[in-house]
Amino acid sequence: MVVIAVNGAAGRMGRTVIETAADHECEVVVGFDVDGPDEIGGVPVVDAGDAADALAEHDPDVVIDFTIPEATLALADACVEVGVAMVVGTTGFDDDELAELDAASGSVPLLKATNFSRGIQALLRSVRATVGALAGYDLELLETHHDGKVDAPSGTANTILETVQEQRDVEPVYGREGHAPREEDEIGVFARRGGDVRGEHELVLAGNDEVVSLSHRAEDRAVFAAGALDAAAWLAGKPAGRYEFGEVVDEA
Ligand code: NAD
Repeated sequence: MVVIAVNGAAGRMGRTVIETAADHECEVVVGFDVDGPDEIGGVPVVDAGDAADALAEHDPDVVIDFTIPEATLALADACVEVGVAMVVGTTGFDDDELAELDAASGSVPLLKATNFSRGIQALLRSVRATVGALAGYDLELLETHHDGKVDAPSGTANTILETVQEQRDVEPVYGREGHAPREEDEIGVFARRGGDVRGEHELVLAGNDEVVSLSHRAEDRAVFAAGALDAAAWLAGKPAGRYEFGEVVDEA
């Protein structure tokens, strides 16, 4: 059993991690949040401000974090202080915040992914191959998420964009309005929000006589929780450093 703590325990993802941990040979011993109940699924939830003390008391192998960037960075301080590994699923970091998080990986093992589904890992590989093979095709990237999502475009859309940019020099155009003719070296990026959509991503490659579409739809948050829990089990006991979810998938 890998012993886990969950930051953002009362959130959509935090609750799913707690509900599904036992299916992945993980035991959640404590949760942190700034809101919500004191206990979820039998797991005590304490104020995130007390995370360092609670980490020292419960001694988890890994903390899984699905919160907001400022909460992740506060948790990183506590993890560095106590010496606990981190799996970070939170998205929406700016460059300064990413650098701060990266600094923590000098002291503790840290694995961050904008998407913990294995399907998205496979999609990224397809993106590399397809964009490389279809030079000159027009590229458009679309994503849809539930109405509670705060960052846009999604972290996964940004990862797909970066993967495209490894193959082709394209500039993102976020939405279009008014007189907005398409340039050859651009990729349109569109974020739709509504309902409880778990996460949909589509990369369209349009040539003159054909259209290729690479898409992924998450149907349950359990898919992200499974990846994060598997990543935690994989990360436990590793030396300090920065790790990628692709390494977990490759070794599975
Ligand atoms: P949510 O809003 O349902 O949950 C976030 C939780 O964080 C809330 O319970 C909130 O009270 C808590 N929180 C806020 N400030 C905090 C603090 N200072 N300390 C501790 N907890 C705090 O959001 P969600 O849908 O669970 O998503 C959370 C994050 O995870 C988002 O950034 C989202 O994009 C990301 N996400 C990533 C993946 C992935 O596979 N990497 C999958 C789904 C969601």
